[in-house]
Amino acid sequence: MRLVFRCIACGTSYLPPESMTYSDGPASPLWCTVHQAVARGRGIAEPPGAAAAALLMARRRADGPGVDEPARPDVRPSRPARTRRAPKPGGRRSKLS
Ligand SMILES: [Zn+2]
Repeated sequence: MRLVFRCIACGTSYLPPESMTYSDGPASPLWCTVHQAVARGRGIAEPPGAAAAALLMARRRADGPGVDEPARPDVRPSRPARTRRAPKPGGRRSKLS
């Protein structure tokens, strides 16, 4: 299963290949391709602990909802919807009848 990661630099969600390797090298669980290239250019190594945590979070997100995002509460209207009936033509009495 392919995992969705969130770049810690720009916050974008990205979907690396299942093998976690691009054609030009390994994919990072921390950075999108842009920021991975930036980090590589600056000589910044991927922190192994943070990478492992990001991988774990992505796996949990893939397993199901409700891990880091609370499930939506069941919101119901407090009152039943009112149905207003259209007045019947000639339904009201007039003084003349
Ligand atoms: Zn990024």
